[in-house]
Amino acid sequence: MAGLAASYLQRLRRRDFVAGAALIDGRWIASEQKDVVVDPATGDEIAEVARCSAADVTLAIQAAERSFAAWRELMPAARGAILGAWASLMRKHSEELAILVTSEQGKPLAEARCEIAYGATFLDWFAAEGERAYGEMIPSHKVDSLLQVRMQPIGVAAAITPWNFPVAMITRKAAAALAAGCPIIVKPAPETPLSALAVARLAEEAGVPPGVFQVIVGDPIELSAPLLRDTRIRALSFTGSTQVGRLLLQGAAQSVKKVSLELGGHAPFLVFDDVDVDKAVTGAMAAKFATSGQDCLAANRIYVQRGIYRAFLEAFTAAMVKLKAGHGLKPATDIGPMTKLSVANKCRAQINDAVKKGARVISAKQDESLGPNFVLPALLSEVTEDMLIGHEETFGPIAAVLPFDSEDEVVARANSSEMGLAGYVYTDSLRRALRLSEQIECGMLGINTASFTGPPIPFGGWKQSGLGREGSRHGLAEYMELKYVCFGDL
Ligand code: NAD
Repeated sequence: MAGLAASYLQRLRRRDFVAGAALIDGRWIASEQKDVVVDPATGDEIAEVARCSAADVTLAIQAAERSFAAWRELMPAARGAILGAWASLMRKHSEELAILVTSEQGKPLAEARCEIAYGATFLDWFAAEGERAYGEMIPSHKVDSLLQVRMQPIGVAAAITPWNFPVAMITRKAAAALAAGCPIIVKPAPETPLSALAVARLAEEAGVPPGVFQVIVGDPIELSAPLLRDTRIRALSFTGSTQVGRLLLQGAAQSVKKVSLELGGHAPFLVFDDVDVDKAVTGAMAAKFATSGQDCLAANRIYVQRGIYRAFLEAFTAAMVKLKAGHGLKPATDIGPMTKLSVANKCRAQINDAVKKGARVISAKQDESLGPNFVLPALLSEVTEDMLIGHEETFGPIAAVLPFDSEDEVVARANSSEMGLAGYVYTDSLRRALRLSEQIECGMLGINTASFTGPPIPFGGWKQSGLGREGSRHGLAEYMELKYVCFGDL
């Protein structure tokens, strides 16, 4: 193993973070079969991890089921104390976790540090929220009876997680499941197993009992098949592409599991001509280039009203050309590589298609030669919805800007997408903000802000962007069943 990332990983004090063993039933499993982890910036091999089999998944399901009774019986505060200890350990080892994230995912180290902090907040928040899984008393419609609704843990849960937030997408799901009283089995993306396995080391150290939090690594199809089939898995939570989400929803139908899906986005970002251009550009830059554009909340269609269209393009270009692409472990880097070559190639295809259909492109120039996973920050203007980039998710640092004339027109265009995860509106008119907060079809809307995520908010989408919510009390409810009890003859 050689290269910049390998040299950082070799210096980690926590050697166990790169051991590459899966966690099943409280044991670290290093199989004979291995998969290789690469640094997406260079293509260098940086580690080997175990390749679990379908038989390992069965062992994990059995262990999870065995652990369920004791875990659900713990007082919520006792479960919360363990989650809190896990969060503290993540903060204590933040730098090492961030190095793992950057090495295998590619994002700049500063962003990786933010992800660790963000990931830990879900553990703390759900540690407390588990104590607030209130039921309901219903005013009775029957004489001499008492009507009650309880919330009870659903059973063993499974999570299939993506590579763009390899730590936070695990804690966002696991914190809610564990707080609800449910064990969870996590299958991380094959591109980013090290972050998941390091988080599992810290879970064990924090006192999460064997079987309650397990991580299996290997081939997605082989490992997900038993998770989908097995009736002992009562809930499945997935974050990733809409295409795979559909497959999992179909697969989960066999055993009628509760399914929560956080899928792709194609966020409209509306800028009206009553707004301060610099403020809107600052928001659009943040919403477009965070995580090098590999973010389901990314501003994918930046609609700018014609009165400020030219001014917006100029200010956006001036800010964008300052972005420096490079290795995420180099301090000056703003934009890292795409984690997967397929994502970089999709970006290039979208640019070529848009230019062929009449868009204009401006790219940020870079002085060093970068590998094939890099896509340089680019601005495409004069974009229309018939271009690929106008109607399919862009998971990279390309900003598509589309001019518009009227409010009615832009609302219809924003809502024309089959995706409905996030949206953004920049306007100085309170009336307009109120109107649009009702009209835009999405699960999360930022008005004059590009930053709105965190544990207390219900994260999720409308239409083909998904089902269910993560974070907030709604996120806890994904891992709980309602039970209505009628006490009669009182
Ligand atoms: P993906 O949906 O293939 O991968 C996400 C997770 O699903 C990973 O853990 C992967 O191993 C697993 N997976 C893949 N195929 C599977 C299958 N047949 N059965 C079970 N599990 C399977 O996403 P991708 O191909 O890595 O990325 C493609 C696009 O998906 C991106 O360009 C982006 O548009 C979108 N995406 C969205 C998010 C998000 O945050 N919503 C995250 C990652 C990718």
